[in-house]
Amino acid sequence: MNYLKEFSSWIDERHWIEFSAEFFNEMGWNCIESENSSYVVEADGKRYFLSARHNAGNGAIGTEKELDILDRIDTCNADGFIGFYSGNYSTGLYVRLKSLGVPFVLFNGARIAIYMAYARSFFVDKYFGNGERAGRIIWRYYNNKDTDKPLKPLLCVCGCGKDILEVKNISYSLVLLEQYENQLYFLYGLKSCLAQFDGNTYCGWVEINQILHPDQFASWNRLVSNYISDNPSLDLSNFHPARREFMCRLMQRMRPVNAGFFMEAMSFQ
Ligand SMILES: [Zn+2]
Repeated sequence: MNYLKEFSSWIDERHWIEFSAEFFNEMGWNCIESENSSYVVEADGKRYFLSARHNAGNGAIGTEKELDILDRIDTCNADGFIGFYSGNYSTGLYVRLKSLGVPFVLFNGARIAIYMAYARSFFVDKYFGNGERAGRIIWRYYNNKDTDKPLKPLLCVCGCGKDILEVKNISYSLVLLEQYENQLYFLYGLKSCLAQFDGNTYCGWVEINQILHPDQFASWNRLVSNYISDNPSLDLSNFHPARREFMCRLMQRMRPVNAGFFMEAMSFQ
């Protein structure tokens, strides 16, 4: 995911301001609208006046743009200042803020892009990404093929012929391990088709949307590998071909590694 490129494609300043307010809430800070319609970020027991400006592709924000800083801080009953810019800020602005003696934090586009990799994918997908959406579902589903050829299907193992990588099916599909006597099975398909299985190993089951996140993919695979080494006498003749097929086909829709975590990764406060 190229966040800087995506910032540059935004044309609406208002969109940037909405994004900035949500960004701070997503990162574990608290962004609220003040009485005079400015945004204030609360962090470390302090209140920061938020100046969000969309200048990607244009010149750096400097002291000629950020005027009356102390007055604006006072008007919002704040203690400090946050500059949140999709492009860059000037050294002059940094020096000026230093000289004012108030707490301040400056973000440029590159810094924001780094933070975005630690956001939840839910938030990332609201503002970024070119993947397909399924109806009103907010997730984006990526197509990693660089040709126009269609994706190879990952067919539900029940034999119903449904492709669980089709956008409309992803949210209704899962993968699980099922042990029957000494046989281990790797099953994937629509939830409704696999309803009689509950994933009777300690690996449980995972939704397809979840396992399309690289962090979730890695942790579930670790669990599966552990289960196999904990149970060396299992018959895996049915397991391996199905797992191989699943892994190969799933990669076609895996999310980019910096496109957010499935759940909250960390707080920066
Ligand atoms: Zn099925």
